[in-house]
Amino acid sequence: MPRYGMVIDQSRCIGCMACVVACKKENDVPDEHYRTRVVELVEGTFPKLRMELRPELCNHCSNAPCVYNCPTGASYKREDGIVMVNKKKCVGCKACIAACPYDARFVDPRTGAAHKCTLCEHRIKEGKEPACVTTCLSKARIFGDFGDPQSTVSKIKADKHIRVLIAEAGTKPFVFYLNPEPLA
Ligand code: SF4
Ligand code: SF4
Repeated sequence: MPRYGMVIDQSRCIGCMACVVACKKENDVPDEHYRTRVVELVEGTFPKLRMELRPELCNHCSNAPCVYNCPTGASYKREDGIVMVNKKKCVGCKACIAACPYDARFVDPRTGAAHKCTLCEHRIKEGKEPACVTTCLSKARIFGDFGDPQSTVSKIKADKHIRVLIAEAGTKPFVFYLNPEPLA
């Protein structure tokens, strides 16, 4: 069984936002909302400063509080690791939004149901990569199957220093970030 997720190489991100636009178009994301974003942060102290560009999305956590705090079973995790929302079961209570430490969810004003990244599961089914990955010209987003030890993402995870965001929340994210080089 695959275990889908992503590695983000921040050193390659140029902040062009092509991924953000591609995601909105691919997934008919409602106005004023986003399933993915690129956060701009300033790191270091003057005069040693640099801008950190950090693509963020749902982490498709293994220990997902959005799933176990959902009172109706609308939020669920598939066997391949993708965390989904069943719109028909969702009552719009926002318990999942409050439980997610990553601000990865919102209520779709058109349906009243929780909405989030699906890793473009409809594209994966067709053997394609998520729209944000395909669109990233600098290849900062690497999608793959962590269940396959020979996959690119598994090899990166085994060989390189990687981190997850807000590790202390204990959600066991499956979006990993390659550690940036230390400031010189
Ligand atoms: Fe759930 Fe948030 Fe983790 Fe995504 S990032 S699986 S919405 S807790
Ligand atoms: Fe579950 Fe929907 Fe409530 Fe989220 S808003 S906890 S998916 S019922």
